[in-house]
Order: sequence, then structure tokens, then C-alpha cells
Amino acid sequence: MEVVRALFNCPIEITSGYRNPEVNAVVGGVPDSDHALGHAADFHVDGFDDLSAAKKIRDSQLKFDQLIYEKNRCVDVSFHPRMRQQVLRQPGGPGSPIYKNLEG
Ligand SMILES: [Zn+2]
Repeated sequence: MEVVRALFNCPIEITSGYRNPEVNAVVGGVPDSDHALGHAADFHVDGFDDLSAAKKIRDSQLKFDQLIYEKNRCVDVSFHPRMRQQVLRQPGGPGSPIYKNLEG
């Protein structure tokens, strides 16, 4: 996550990182969650709303696998070695459908 902190050059608050499979299930994570592999983190950036933070990461040179704007929850970034540069949004909040891109 240091690459994310360095991009913003200000503190980030990580709200969830590695989750073992049991914890991941309890918090509603999908079974194949990158959190259970230690590749993903949920976070907020000081001074940015989550959508603005997600856009700044998307528009940067940062390499990632998935970037998800989870409305009313967090920004989620995964550094799974697949590194697909996939950008997604979950506008309905936790547990709701996930769509491609940040806008729409
Ligand atoms: Zn997450």
C-alpha cells in the first residue's frame, strides 16, 4: 500500500487487509476474495472522498489488478499478480451489484 500512500503523499486509513477465509465469509466477502489471498486492501485517503481517490488512482501510472469504488464503504485495491488494471464500481453499497468503470 506504500505505492498508494506515495501517490497521494498523505495518510491513508486501511480498514481491511488480509482476511482469513472464516473472517472473509463473516464480513460478506466473496469466497474467492483477494482479501483472503492477502492481495487486497480497503482504505480511505485523508482529504479525499472515496470516489475522488479511486479516480486519482485510475488516472495514475499505478499498476494494480482491481480497483473498486465501494460506495458508502471504501476504496478497494488489489495487487493480485494478474494485474488486469480492472476498474469497477459498486454504486449500491455493500452486497450490491458491481459494474465496470467508475462512472455510469
Ligand atoms: Zn475490499
